[in-house]
Amino acid sequence: MMTGKEYVESIKKMRPNIYKFGKLIEDVTTNPHTSEHVKSVARSYDYSHNPDYASIYTCKSALTGKVAHRWTTLMDSMESVRGNSDLKRHQYRQSGTCQGATCAGWTGLNALWSATYAMDKDLGTNYNARLKKFMIDEVEGKSMALSGAITDAKGNRALRPSQQPNKMSNLHLVEKRSNGIVVSGYKVQICGIAAAHMVICVPGSGYGESEKDFCVAFAVPRDAEGLTIVECRTGMDRRYEEEGWDVPKNGTITQAWLFFDKVFIPDEHVFMCGEFKYTGKIIGDFAAIYRAAIGACVAGQGDVMIGAAISMARANGLSQKTFQATLNEMAINNELTYTMGIGATALGKQDPSGLWVPSPLQAHANKVLVGRVPYDTKVKCIDIAGGISETDCFPSYADIQHPSYGKKILEGLTAGCDGESRGKMSRLVTWLCNGSGIPGCMHGGGSPDGAKLVVRAFTKWEDFAKDAQRIMGVPEGAIKEPETKK
Ligand SMILES: Cc1cc2nc3c(=O)[nH]c(=O)nc-3n(C[C@H](O)[C@H](O)[C@H](O)COP(=O)(O)OP(=O)(O)OC[C@H]3O[C@@H](n4cnc5c(N)ncnc54)[C@H](O)[C@@H]3O)c2cc1C
Repeated sequence: MMTGKEYVESIKKMRPNIYKFGKLIEDVTTNPHTSEHVKSVARSYDYSHNPDYASIYTCKSALTGKVAHRWTTLMDSMESVRGNSDLKRHQYRQSGTCQGATCAGWTGLNALWSATYAMDKDLGTNYNARLKKFMIDEVEGKSMALSGAITDAKGNRALRPSQQPNKMSNLHLVEKRSNGIVVSGYKVQICGIAAAHMVICVPGSGYGESEKDFCVAFAVPRDAEGLTIVECRTGMDRRYEEEGWDVPKNGTITQAWLFFDKVFIPDEHVFMCGEFKYTGKIIGDFAAIYRAAIGACVAGQGDVMIGAAISMARANGLSQKTFQATLNEMAINNELTYTMGIGATALGKQDPSGLWVPSPLQAHANKVLVGRVPYDTKVKCIDIAGGISETDCFPSYADIQHPSYGKKILEGLTAGCDGESRGKMSRLVTWLCNGSGIPGCMHGGGSPDGAKLVVRAFTKWEDFAKDAQRIMGVPEGAIKEPETKK
């Protein structure tokens, strides 16, 4: 297992291919747009070696029997999938935000595990053996951090990938060679790229035969030739990449667009090429694992919101007790999504490949909750903190440094504590509630609408209707669903 320092050195050596604000980022480990995320991931590497946290950050690898960074391993049991949730809640509590490079790529690998197993069994391919070698030799063997690229640019949402006027809207196969494949197209909104060694790419949806070209899954080095990356989050978060004391200094998230232009992927990194029937399995298993764990992500962020709200109340000169009822509600929100995910995991089952797959009904119901509940927590956090945090009506760090009026700003900020401490807490509340935190809830891990379809498919509507009628002794068949008019 690598240490944080070794990890940062390994990322430093990579070819620069990430841009932001029109400029190439020469070194992601020092550039302010990306360095905080690298720092956040480095902390996970260090925690793996810390006896106080090792049980969260490491586990015994199902493939090698060795102790490994948890995010490099196969989730082969209920405990290991629960470990995913607990890792994420803890990671969020360290930085207040998502740690992309130890998240979606890991889930992608696990979803590929079960899909490649099924493909090998049905089609006689050797994808699973290839994936196993990749996971042992490279992911676990080299202690890799991985991003996961599922979301395509898509184009017109009403059209399938093959119907798009521009094929680049979706990642696709360009050419098959004797030793690998060539791919082009765009993946977007990908978290943690700047801190990742490799990216696990999987199809963006379940596809039919007409979309065969879009059914490619592979691992690609973040700095591969032909891959250009553009870092996003250019609005709210820009201020948080400044250098003052008023910005979070414990790790932020990065998110990027990936432009593949005829990128060569050697056979040993290709885990699907055209087997469209298995794309549904990749997406299904990915979503079940991811949506079980996402309740822990938002709970971890909610924990920080509670801490920030209490601190802000005190910084304003008020006691925690003044807001205890609201704080209780915030805590209940956090436990709701966390335990819903743990429940989905406990109700899951082992796939024939060995992967533990959480129960889809509860995992997807959790995704729907995650698109609602944390927003309520954020509103409550802002309610406690006050208008300064809601509007970010807070002069910039440069203004605070101004020789004539800087001191006045600090005086104006001073309340239940010194101005600088109150300013820091206010900025954290704004960042959690209006900045980095907000988007993760609604569309992160997929939109709630898709999750609702799964809830509809897995809920036993007819059984419930029969139960209700039986309880009241209504004869079977007396109450019927009206026939649909043609
Ligand atoms: C914080 C965050 C982190 C993320 N990290 C990653 C990551 O690491 N890797 C990754 O791959 N992706 C990532 N994503 C992307 C995320 O998976 C997508 O945002 C999500 O799947 C929704 O896709 P979209 O943004 O294209 O929205 P759209 O698909 O455009 O959806 C917008 C709305 O339209 C609806 N809709 C879409 N198509 C149809 C249709 N045909 N008919 C009817 N309704 C439709 C949807 O249900 C939704 O309500 C992240 C997103 C966020 C917010």
